[in-house]
Amino acid sequence: MIKNYINGQWGESQGRESVEVVNPATKELLDRCPLGTPGDVDRAVQAASSAFVSWRRTPVIDRVQPFFRLKTLMEENLPALARQVTIENGKILAEAIGSVRRAIQMVETACGMPSLMMGQFSEDIAGEIDCLSVRQPIGVFASINPFNFPAMVPFWFWPFAVAAGNTFIVKPSERVPLTQIKIFELIEKAGFPKGVINMVQGGKEVVNALLAHPTIKGISFVGSTPVAKYVYQTGTANLKRVQALGGAKNSMVVLPDASLEKSARVAFESITGCAGERCLAGSVVICVGDEVDRKFRDLVIPIASDTIVGNGLEARVQMGPVISEAARERIKGLIQSAVDEGADLLLDGRKNLGDLPGFFLRPTVIGGVRPGMRIAEEEIFGPVVCLAKVDSFDDAIRWINSSPYGNTTTLFTTSGAAARKFSYEVDPGMVGINIGVPAPMAFFSFGGRKDSFFGDVKAHGNQCINFFTDTKVITERWLKDSSIW
Ligand code: NAD
Repeated sequence: MIKNYINGQWGESQGRESVEVVNPATKELLDRCPLGTPGDVDRAVQAASSAFVSWRRTPVIDRVQPFFRLKTLMEENLPALARQVTIENGKILAEAIGSVRRAIQMVETACGMPSLMMGQFSEDIAGEIDCLSVRQPIGVFASINPFNFPAMVPFWFWPFAVAAGNTFIVKPSERVPLTQIKIFELIEKAGFPKGVINMVQGGKEVVNALLAHPTIKGISFVGSTPVAKYVYQTGTANLKRVQALGGAKNSMVVLPDASLEKSARVAFESITGCAGERCLAGSVVICVGDEVDRKFRDLVIPIASDTIVGNGLEARVQMGPVISEAARERIKGLIQSAVDEGADLLLDGRKNLGDLPGFFLRPTVIGGVRPGMRIAEEEIFGPVVCLAKVDSFDDAIRWINSSPYGNTTTLFTTSGAAARKFSYEVDPGMVGINIGVPAPMAFFSFGGRKDSFFGDVKAHGNQCINFFTDTKVITERWLKDSSIW
């Protein structure tokens, strides 16, 4: 049974129920994840709250020292961490390595906290009066994480929170808790004081306990839109700071002037990388004009049918399984809905699965996708390329902006003017120009808009400093002659 990490110690959860952790490529049972209780959460909060007293007084240059050690430890253990990601999540090893590297970049960026959390100072705001503002840590924060990036997503938050002087509780996804166990073994070696960073395993009950606990000051959530909305509403009603990153439905636009061959490869990789289980995955490719639509079909179908699907630990494999049988059934159902609603099933990834043992699908290509179809509107989170055709660039932008989601979108073009118009007019919060997965690096902020993001301060980059610190403004006058008083 998987353990909690509270106050610098590994311990059993109080939860009596547990869920299976399964390798999606083989269906092998890897372990069981306990469904923790409010009592587990309370113990973690007490530890984090006690640790905060001295951690916030620790100079920031000393607070970042364990992060330098953690970076080195993670570099040294990168192959083992990536392997664990592949085993519990299914994404291929190259993708897993990339995701661990991103986690390390978060640590590297958080090492800049001495500069990141600097305040401001103005001299002589009035006669002999100076004014300064400082950023202070706030207390205990927590993160609630999704299954699709077992290593990376928790790192979007806790390194910044902790380097800024807060203490933290991580709740991994109960479907993929094993990578975080390996990471916490490294956190332990890096020498963070006990209670500064804690981990509680579990699902809904742990989430509710985190949202209700009066000592927790802020929650960072990443997951599906209905849960993101619930977490935002409940957390803010309980007077916490909340940033809640939700689901997505990302469209990509191809203009006639684009390099179609390159665009087809990049769009395909965006849609099917990590078996489509990325919040930045493309979904609908909106082709502007008949010719682009026709050529794109001809280019994408062979790329899709040549894709090698299998266990992501094998070097030759290009796409792994989806996370579970339930996910596979949901995706198959969405493909069927497109057929029933009159789209063209150009390549059916539900077929030819042979003796693949896990939750596999091959890439699917669907043409003639139109607004209003379920496949055009809902998040698929699976390897399904949807091709749509519109008559004009403006129609494509209208399509994007009509979605309730607003995570990311991409334009393929060779025109700077078109690129500028696109970046200016589209709703989503992250935009790619000839980039399939425009994921902001650690030093930029990450987050969508509309139903893809609830809150006002996004993940990592400069914005997160506002989430994890509060400002205090001090106005001061020092007089040589105190007789004035
Ligand atoms: P999920 O919403 O099912 O679970 C996310 C977390 O919420 C988990 O830790 C889970 O334990 C908890 N949870 C689940 N149901 C709950 C409930 N009813 N009440 C309280 N807590 C609950 O999401 P998932 O399936 O793990 O992840 C996939 C989703 O995450 C996709 O929609 C994807 O787009 C989204 N995602 C978004 C981003 C982003 O940056 N916007 C990044 C990664 C994933």
